[in-house]
Amino acid sequence: MLMTKKTPRTKRSKDFAPHIEASNAPPCNVEGCLLAGEYKAPKSREQIEEYEWYCLEHIRERNKQWDYFSGMGSDEIEAFIHDSVTGHRPTWSRESRLREHYFTLQDKLYEFMNGSKPAPAQPRLPAKTKKALATMELTHPYTTQELKIRYRSLVKKYHPDLNKGDKELEEKFKHITSAYRYLAEQITDS
Ligand SMILES: [Zn+2]
Repeated sequence: MLMTKKTPRTKRSKDFAPHIEASNAPPCNVEGCLLAGEYKAPKSREQIEEYEWYCLEHIRERNKQWDYFSGMGSDEIEAFIHDSVTGHRPTWSRESRLREHYFTLQDKLYEFMNGSKPAPAQPRLPAKTKKALATMELTHPYTTQELKIRYRSLVKKYHPDLNKGDKELEEKFKHITSAYRYLAEQITDS
């Protein structure tokens, strides 16, 4: 699956000056970040008098986040947050810009809240499929073509005719064949 990632638009702003000395600073607000929170940011648009403290990297991330939202109407922001919580993908045609940036936004929001990049989306695979893929030395997603090519090369390696009398390899070959059949049935590409 291909996902185009747009480069986020960022304001070319001057570098940040710390709001507090590192030795007096509370820890960065991002979970797992061990740096000093020398930079403050308002908690939210509603709570601009209340601050949270971040290290330089995370204050930058956070400000980027605010830049993203700054061009949007409040209903769009709410819809975005709602969608990122429920996992529902927006399908609005009215706001193509938002849809276009949706994945970037979602990643940024995740990164901001968790202090690390999200793992690439992996479909939930049944245990049987995972096992079959491992047997075939393939990863998801796979194509019919890839499956066939892999099967052929494994056949060359493990076919009983080539390994006369080796029970272990014979067993392995049976597993490969049934994994191949199973995966061939599962495939949805054309
Ligand atoms: Zn930090």
